[in-house]
Amino acid sequence: MSNKKILVLAGDGIGPECTGQALRVVDWFASKRALKFDLTEDLVGGAAYDAHGTSLTDETMQKAIDTDAILFGSVGGPKWDGVARDVRPENSLLRIRKKLDLFANLRPATVFPALAEASSLKTELVSGLDIMILRELTGGVYFGEPKEITTQADGSKRAIDSQIYTTQEIERAAHVAFDLARKRDNRVCSVEKSNVMETGVLWREVVTEVHKASYQDVELSHMLADACAMQLVRAPKQFDVIVTDNLFGDMLSDQAAMLTGSIGMLPSASLGAVDDNGRRPALYEPCHGSAPDIAGQGVANPLAQILSFGMLLRYSFGLSAEADLIEAAVAQVLDRGVRTPDIMQPGMKKVSTDGMGDAVLDELSALAA
Ligand code: NAD
Repeated sequence: MSNKKILVLAGDGIGPECTGQALRVVDWFASKRALKFDLTEDLVGGAAYDAHGTSLTDETMQKAIDTDAILFGSVGGPKWDGVARDVRPENSLLRIRKKLDLFANLRPATVFPALAEASSLKTELVSGLDIMILRELTGGVYFGEPKEITTQADGSKRAIDSQIYTTQEIERAAHVAFDLARKRDNRVCSVEKSNVMETGVLWREVVTEVHKASYQDVELSHMLADACAMQLVRAPKQFDVIVTDNLFGDMLSDQAAMLTGSIGMLPSASLGAVDDNGRRPALYEPCHGSAPDIAGQGVANPLAQILSFGMLLRYSFGLSAEADLIEAAVAQVLDRGVRTPDIMQPGMKKVSTDGMGDAVLDELSALAA
């Protein structure tokens, strides 16, 4: 059997620094666990623009189509602020998402007990928090047509964004949510605004039908998006998997992210549909951007990127034990007080990006011994 293919697109700013540490973890699995992948690295974002005049070449897009999974760093930075929109660094990621139809965006909000104090909420509310927000990523109000600003007869303007969802779009998001829940605490909360929006009515109907037809073993609840926003800061541990549309998912996943205290800790996955050969396009990336303010200083926190590789093992290759091992190693490193500057606390040991990579590798070896 041929090795699984991973395309590594490190990007700009702290992207290469953080993916560099994730690649050390890849190497660890190759040497210690005989887990070999076919790795290909390529340019994306501003780095690709500087080399090729576009943030994503056709060749790189083809590699993205052909690979089993993409490990993405981050793109963008002030250097490319004046660049035309269609070749801007950020456009490369949008193009990949669109081309591969990555409709399911998974954002875990996990609070490692050692970092619970970094949250703006009380420690007991967030310690041990482990929720998964599934945001529908390719439909809804960000993409619906018409989408325009027109000038009216009196010279004033009128703007329209269209919130559109079809049965199929909701169904496929619901399937991913229920499948995820079965591997977690078996609970899904479906979130919409069915009290005031037709798309919300359809969303609730379709999720309920999918549940009835195929997932009666999973506990399903429904919540209005505004109530969910409140509950996320009142009692976030009540949730397991939240499934919601593109707009509400955008807001709620950022809100949930802040419960965890640091953006340098948060991984994400964007999944497409399983094709006839059983392959599912997938891209894994940290939630943070390219952090130009700290790029090149060796101080970036690489844990979100390393945890993104963990998600890749879990969701693309079904290697749950290996993903668990990475998460356990990260938890141990934090328990031992090892900190990059963004999560530094009094009395802890401050390390560089490399130092954090060293600590994770040491813990992996200790746990695997
Ligand atoms: P950002 O996430 O890059 O940075 C926000 C703040 O968090 C900064 O102070 C930064 O230093 C800090 N930070 C982020 N990641 C960190 C890490 N791993 N370790 C330590 N500190 C970290 O967001 P921004 O400043 O709004 O955007 C910067 C650039 O990144 C922009 O060009 C933006 O378009 C781009 N961006 C890219 C992506 C992506 O590639 N998916 C996502 C968001 C933003």
